[in-house]
Amino acid sequence: MFLYTLILILIFLNFILIFIPQSSSRAEYVFSILLKILLGLNFELTHDKNYFNNFVGPKFSYTKNKLNNELFFTSTDLLFENEINSEQFSKLTINTAFTIDHPLFNIDIFAASFFLLTRYEEYGHRNFAHQKSILFRSHLLQQPVVNQWAVQLETILQQNFPELKFQKRNYQFIPTIDVDRAFAFKARNAFKTIGGFAKDFLKRNFFEMKKRFAVLFQNVKDPFDVFDELENVHEQNNLRAKYFFHCGNYNGVDKNIDLQNANFKTLINRLQTTADIGLHPSVKSNNNFDLLENERNVLENLLQKKVNDSRQHFIQLHFPNTYQCLIELDIKNDFTMGYVTTVGFRAGICNSFYWYDLENETTTDLIVHPFCWIETVFQEFQTVTDEEMWRQTKQIINAVKHVDGEFCGVWHNHSLSELYEFKGWKNKYEQFVKLAK
Ligand SMILES: [Zn+2]
Repeated sequence: MFLYTLILILIFLNFILIFIPQSSSRAEYVFSILLKILLGLNFELTHDKNYFNNFVGPKFSYTKNKLNNELFFTSTDLLFENEINSEQFSKLTINTAFTIDHPLFNIDIFAASFFLLTRYEEYGHRNFAHQKSILFRSHLLQQPVVNQWAVQLETILQQNFPELKFQKRNYQFIPTIDVDRAFAFKARNAFKTIGGFAKDFLKRNFFEMKKRFAVLFQNVKDPFDVFDELENVHEQNNLRAKYFFHCGNYNGVDKNIDLQNANFKTLINRLQTTADIGLHPSVKSNNNFDLLENERNVLENLLQKKVNDSRQHFIQLHFPNTYQCLIELDIKNDFTMGYVTTVGFRAGICNSFYWYDLENETTTDLIVHPFCWIETVFQEFQTVTDEEMWRQTKQIINAVKHVDGEFCGVWHNHSLSELYEFKGWKNKYEQFVKLAK
């Protein structure tokens, strides 16, 4: 009897039973993110009233109406549907879309989290603009709301079930670098090299002309080859970075170099001893699976090992196709979940989570690692002072630190080149790492 009680106590330390009116893969998914991934609890869903009523451990119900006098959260309909009606949310805010009359929460945090995590509102759109998002309309884009709701849920559960043991999470910083082009001047064919000189001459870019000449003929280091500097910063701060290499052909916005060039091979092999290397699929491959597969094969051949990580070039993320293609390719981790046009939390979360495929109503094995800051926001989309850039940067880092989340920032190697419009950005990288670590 004593042993039986002890086992029960041990199980109950981090176990909670949840009543829902009917089985739902959507509910299974969202409870696993909020309770399991963010709070470290095990749970079971049941729609058996007797089983729920007789259960003596921590429990709550998620229904329209309370069963007895249990802890209870009012449900809206979203988790019990199986269609996608993104249009019906297109004018709503978090408060108007998920409002409930309840003493603990004024919105259904479970349905709202599901809506944000699955990127429900993006289905049927291409190149989804951040201004179209429900978080933007709700003035919540710079808040990791899903994490914040999980913290509030933890407080409520702890008050009701003091015996529950929650998992403590630790803040983490993940530096990531997109390598659209490893070198500015090296590893390009003769045609492009002559073209480059001609362009510099016509634009009277004599500084760039001199640099190009020095790199090609005087053994001076290529200005985009800042990988030693980057790795020094990471080593000094005890960080392991992730680099995403573009392995597509030169085409429009895909401006990569010769992938078979010896300098490129040497670089990738050197980097993979101190950092993780992932794929940066070209824009062209976004609608072409064969091309995507080729690019993955090129990188695997260079690395001589399987590629598991990926981030789309130009953050081309289209639901559900982009992720369905990555799954087909056996990619395990995607890092594309963010906006290039603003800092903020595209999926409302600052922790990695499994992707739910709304088209097939199923939880997948693909892990999404969101980013909330990319330097292009301040280079291309917002003309703000450095002071304002650092204010926004500190604010978003603090928002992540506050919920012990994962801060993922995105940089490009060319930003540290001190060439063209990137003058002054090299120092900013060190400042950024110091703030974020
Ligand atoms: Zn890119």
